[in-house]
Amino acid sequence: MAELTNILHCDLDAFFASVEQLDNPSLRGKAVVVGGSRHSRGVVSTCSYEARKYGIRSAMPVAQAYRLCPQAVFLSVNMPRYLEISQQVFSVLSQYSPIMEIISIDEAFLDISSCSRLYGSPEEIGYSIKKQVKLELGLTISVGISYNKFLAKLASDMDKPDGLCIIAESQALELLRPLPVSRIWGIGEKTQESLDRLGIKTIGDIQDLPSGWLEDKIGSAGRLFWELAYGIDKREVETGHERKSLSREQTFPEDINDSTYLEKLIAQFADDLCRKLRKEELQAASITIKLRYSNFKTITRSKTINPCNSDIIVSQIAGELLQNAYKNKEPLRLFGLSLGHLSAAKSLEQGSLFESQLKTDYKSIDRLMDEIRERFGPEAINRANLLNNKDIE
Ligand SMILES: [Mg+2]
Repeated sequence: MAELTNILHCDLDAFFASVEQLDNPSLRGKAVVVGGSRHSRGVVSTCSYEARKYGIRSAMPVAQAYRLCPQAVFLSVNMPRYLEISQQVFSVLSQYSPIMEIISIDEAFLDISSCSRLYGSPEEIGYSIKKQVKLELGLTISVGISYNKFLAKLASDMDKPDGLCIIAESQALELLRPLPVSRIWGIGEKTQESLDRLGIKTIGDIQDLPSGWLEDKIGSAGRLFWELAYGIDKREVETGHERKSLSREQTFPEDINDSTYLEKLIAQFADDLCRKLRKEELQAASITIKLRYSNFKTITRSKTINPCNSDIIVSQIAGELLQNAYKNKEPLRLFGLSLGHLSAAKSLEQGSLFESQLKTDYKSIDRLMDEIRERFGPEAINRANLLNNKDIE
């Protein structure tokens, strides 16, 4: 009987740099570094494979990348463009299975358990996805196939770029054995150091430990790492929540054309909707505003965003949509805000380039606000822009 390989991990190759090379053909075949001008003090977000030949890597200071390869082309991050393409890629992926979990701007898991009758074997599905992404978007995507998420993610990285790699259950233990512990999903630098002090360097070293030993040494994560070392990963591909969107709208008692009032309304709606998202551990990947004029003509404007549940980010983007859409200032009878493309919020913390670029830690501010409201009631704390705004409902 064929071994079960029902999980795909699809990961775009050198995503930001590839989009830049796609949009500007003169950059193709060249060392491209996305992360800021060569004088910037930022770090490399992504670099093309040509740049990797010079030793340039993600998260390296741009200045260091410049020293390694002065002739490289240095570009700043164009997030709106990457998000646009990312959305198109996810829409291709979602054609192959309704069970898709987006884990960052350029990677997603698919559970294809029930789709093979439609699209063929896992391998055939992998090749179809690669072909379609290349044809429709001009980008290469690497696909890893296995029987769980950890191994599928490991597999997508084994044959990059433009790879397709399958890890079957019978191969997993031997394949994992020689790899450094850092290849285990969730083992960062710090854990790696603690394991190093225990003399554990490879995944094989973990396999050789008696069960329970690592848990005693480093706590409950030890159990998880031991299981992963054995190729055991019970996490399921978590598809978007049942609910696909959340929205609020208000019909005004009298038509209005007061932008300041609308901005306050956005802040109020964003605060309310994001609190609901956080409560259900969801995040949204699209924002839509709705304007209905006094003659009942209705327009909507949407934007795709990196999944988030922060009301500051939502208000800001909705505010920009409003600014662009509401230049005529004609009287409105209704305004609405909705958040769509909802998915589980417990993404894997890693690869969140967008968030790491935000200067303030909005997530912890949100968490703090939720906690205070939970304990002291909804009126206990408000963002400054919501104060003096109690008449809005
Ligand atoms: Mg990638």
